[in-house]
Amino acid sequence: MYRSHSCGELRPSDINKEVTLSGWVQKIRNKGFMIWVDLRDRYGITQLIFDEERTPVAVVEKAKTLGREFVIQIKGTVIERESKNKNIPTGDIEILVTDLNILNDAIVPPFTIEDETDGGEDIRMKYRYLDIRRNPVKNNLMFRHKVGMLVRNYLSNEGFIEVETPYLIKSTPEGARDFIVPSRMNEGQFYALPQSPQTFKQLLMVGGMDKYFQIVKCFRDEDLRADRQPEFTQIDCEMSFVEQEDILSIFENLTRHLIHEIKGVDISDFPRMTYDEAMRTYGNDKPDIRFGMKFGELNAVAKHKDFNVFNTAELVVGIAVPGGASYTRKEIDKLIDWVKRPQVGALGMVYVKCNEDGTYKSSVDKFYDQEDLAKWAETTGAQPGDLICVLSGETNKVRAQLSALRMELAERLELRNPEEFAPLWVVDFPLLEWDEDTQRYHAMHHPFTSPKPEDITLLDTDPGKVRANAYDLVLNGNEIGGGSIRIHDKETQALMFDHLGFTPEEAKAQFGFLMDAFQYGAPPHGGIAFGFDRLVSILGGQETIRDFIAFPKNNSGRDVMIDAPATIDQEQLKELHIKLSI
Ligand code: ASP
Repeated sequence: MYRSHSCGELRPSDINKEVTLSGWVQKIRNKGFMIWVDLRDRYGITQLIFDEERTPVAVVEKAKTLGREFVIQIKGTVIERESKNKNIPTGDIEILVTDLNILNDAIVPPFTIEDETDGGEDIRMKYRYLDIRRNPVKNNLMFRHKVGMLVRNYLSNEGFIEVETPYLIKSTPEGARDFIVPSRMNEGQFYALPQSPQTFKQLLMVGGMDKYFQIVKCFRDEDLRADRQPEFTQIDCEMSFVEQEDILSIFENLTRHLIHEIKGVDISDFPRMTYDEAMRTYGNDKPDIRFGMKFGELNAVAKHKDFNVFNTAELVVGIAVPGGASYTRKEIDKLIDWVKRPQVGALGMVYVKCNEDGTYKSSVDKFYDQEDLAKWAETTGAQPGDLICVLSGETNKVRAQLSALRMELAERLELRNPEEFAPLWVVDFPLLEWDEDTQRYHAMHHPFTSPKPEDITLLDTDPGKVRANAYDLVLNGNEIGGGSIRIHDKETQALMFDHLGFTPEEAKAQFGFLMDAFQYGAPPHGGIAFGFDRLVSILGGQETIRDFIAFPKNNSGRDVMIDAPATIDQEQLKELHIKLSI
């Protein structure tokens, strides 16, 4: 038996017990006549004492050979500790060692295995298994497990069945590139790794499974942005005989349940906002509603004077920054520089200081009088003491710019409290989205999303105006889930493919299996998928999803620990019928 207890378990009530422990050597303090060792495992740390007077000489001698991260097994007696450590649960006791067995030695680790380590990100990624020994990483993985269990239990209790869907499939369009796997047995043919189990979960509905879920890996070969992983995990769900409302209500409850169980917070408000409203009031389809600073559209009160910049703009829009009237000229100039950075791209910014005495001082006083500015304040909800920041230009661009400014200011003003949770649904997304590069419409969610029946006639006349039965779940400014009610009849699906620029032959070649299935009695159905990594990191109160993934890839999509991707040898290439041209 390697151990009778874990290293996190023993307490004063265990004093005088003979125990066996196994673990890693965290720390050694050698005072000559006495050696203390901190023994660590997943459960905690227990202090061992090798005492020349009470421990057999041979054992003390062996203890002198120990190094950091050696794996050892000890036998000993639990005794009361003289200088107690109130910071750890085992801090009242220690083990007087009577026997030591070195199970494995260890070379010196490249960074310290402590909560605060001296290792940088790169080295910790290369030796991820050592990083996992550290509490912050270990705790994150345990936290991820906990969230996973809560989700599984919740959905299972709601009657959902977890079904595994294949990883070697044919392309499913979710807007990214596929990862491709060559087939050895079918020369010149390739599998694709799923961008999501979308078509399979729909086929499970045709198969009568009724309520499906899966915590599942998805693969998307996208250009990597910071904190995006080429493989990531979704909580993927699908239900039959449901309308949008049924789905929103189940997953709203799941979200409440998770936040309640993990944070002890009861969510009272769970608003729903149309996509149009989100764009109008926050310039963003995933608004952070923990704080105000809502957009005030100023066209009606700013376009009637001689200020040409505004007169020629499609949209003039502003936000009120709480307390911003006290910003110095220099601070405001810095803010203007910030919005003019290429990443934001505004051409300039007009501002109005709302003085405490009720007067206004603006950068456009030449054109606007106090009465005009009072209307701006009213429209943006600015109070005395606030600063109104106004941008103008083409609607979509200016909204994105002001949204970036809003988030930046909220960050600076510390309005984004990680302990506060403000979820909402954004609904009625557009069905299609114009793509400048390819000069055609793309499905905004995916091609299986159903248009709102009342909008179908617009498909021919004004496709960009067609709304979808699609929804996103947004938490603290992050999209954590998205889904839709699906098309479940062959004709509408064919119509949709047609509008997306597929010829009937292409549609048949790529999605014939789904269209065929729709002829055999497909129930009305819909679903949603949550980004599990992101959800866990938000609930864990941290920013980066990498911290919650056991073996993440770096920002260039590499696993630096196993060194992948990597070349393969000629023999393998030949078997796969692949000739490299490089
Ligand atoms: N398959 C979709 C996605 O990955 C989710 C859904 O529509 O259920 O975003």
